[in-house]
Amino acid sequence: MKSYFMQPLRGTKDILPYEIIYWQHIYTKASAILSLHNYSEIRTPIIESTNLFQRTIGETTDIINKEMYTFIDQSNRYITLRPEATASIARAFVNNKLYQNQLQKFWYLGPMFRYERPQSGRQRQFHQLGIECIGSFSPMADAEVIHLANELLHQLKLKEYILEINSIGNLEERQLYKTDLVKYLLKYKKDLDADSQNRLYSNPLRILDSKNAKTQEILQYAPNLNKYLNKISTEHFYLVCTYLDNLNIPYKINYQLVRGLDYYNQTTFEIKTHSEDNQNTICGGGRYNNLIKQLGGPTTPAVGWAIGLERLLKSIQTELILHQQKINVYIATQGLAAQKKIWEIIRNLEKENIKFELDLSNKSFPKQIKRADKLGAKFCIILGDQEVNNNCITTRKLDEHKQYTVPYSIFLQEINKLKH
Ligand code: ATP
Ligand code: MG
Repeated sequence: MKSYFMQPLRGTKDILPYEIIYWQHIYTKASAILSLHNYSEIRTPIIESTNLFQRTIGETTDIINKEMYTFIDQSNRYITLRPEATASIARAFVNNKLYQNQLQKFWYLGPMFRYERPQSGRQRQFHQLGIECIGSFSPMADAEVIHLANELLHQLKLKEYILEINSIGNLEERQLYKTDLVKYLLKYKKDLDADSQNRLYSNPLRILDSKNAKTQEILQYAPNLNKYLNKISTEHFYLVCTYLDNLNIPYKINYQLVRGLDYYNQTTFEIKTHSEDNQNTICGGGRYNNLIKQLGGPTTPAVGWAIGLERLLKSIQTELILHQQKINVYIATQGLAAQKKIWEIIRNLEKENIKFELDLSNKSFPKQIKRADKLGAKFCIILGDQEVNNNCITTRKLDEHKQYTVPYSIFLQEINKLKH
């Protein structure tokens, strides 16, 4: 009988070595591109006080309502596995008094946790790569941040994606809009989908996100949020779009893009692939000028995004073919004397940065050489009693099936030849 605990938990996955190379590739590319713009990596804890997320993400959002992994620890504290990183980074920013430096640019990569129905591109433990640019009201910050998402996705060979962008204004603008939106939608209440009917009272802006065809039809004639923006928000949005034009980044303005977290204001954006399912959003982000103040810090504007890495990988794995680096050298030994002597050779291979595998099977030389071949090694170093007694070493060039024996000292002198 298979034990249930031998399965990974629903919605979680092992990432095996053949996949890890993709994750390492993403990490390396992100680190290179982002450090060029002077972004520094930050790592915050995976567990935080439940209150941190409740107070920032918003009581009526899906994340807080139904997706949090929350438990009570031995000291009766409510703890949550982070569903996203922005709240944690804002907390770290305030907590470590990082506001003493005027501008902070951070990036992160790590696991996030949401209790959702697992589907392709939707897991309970998933990974986000994200950036946060903290300390600037300038629309240039929005443009730089969006440019970085675009550049990274481009360099990671994501094909055919579209940037959608909107401005949701500030709190007062949204309040006025909300009142008018609800007034309009109440006229059609019975025709709205059930979720949207509930949201009329809890979070009416999220109705704009509804995938229901009938609801969308009703929304076509609803008041438009952009008509409620004041001069500052309108100007900000106009400039962000202008900078994107100057960067040659194509985008589509989507007046219904509101995003699922409460802390956003002004700019919101998503990068989507053309796939038809509900998991086609690869990157989501926006501006959040009030979050840090709300957590007890000084008024500090910020803008950022997060990319879902499982979704990204699903889209790029066909374009981006990576192979694990093969070993150059396989080390075959036999007998105690050889196994005592081999360590000096290992030290020299390390010094020369030559990738190798040490055979640990204690099988016959032919079997060890067979494995060297299977692993795609270029050379097999052979050290047995005979070599030890004659103070020499045998090297086999695997693709030519040729081997030669040279004095030990010469072998060491010429060890860097095993690189090629
Ligand atoms: P969705 O509408 O698809 O649930 P979201 O708005 O909840 O997405 P965000 O909170 O904006 O997602 O997170 C940013 C990105 O993280 C998403 O665009 C997506 O790529 C990824 N993401 C979010 N939730 C999951 C999940 N459960 N599994 C895998 N990736 C996820
Ligand atoms: Mg979600």
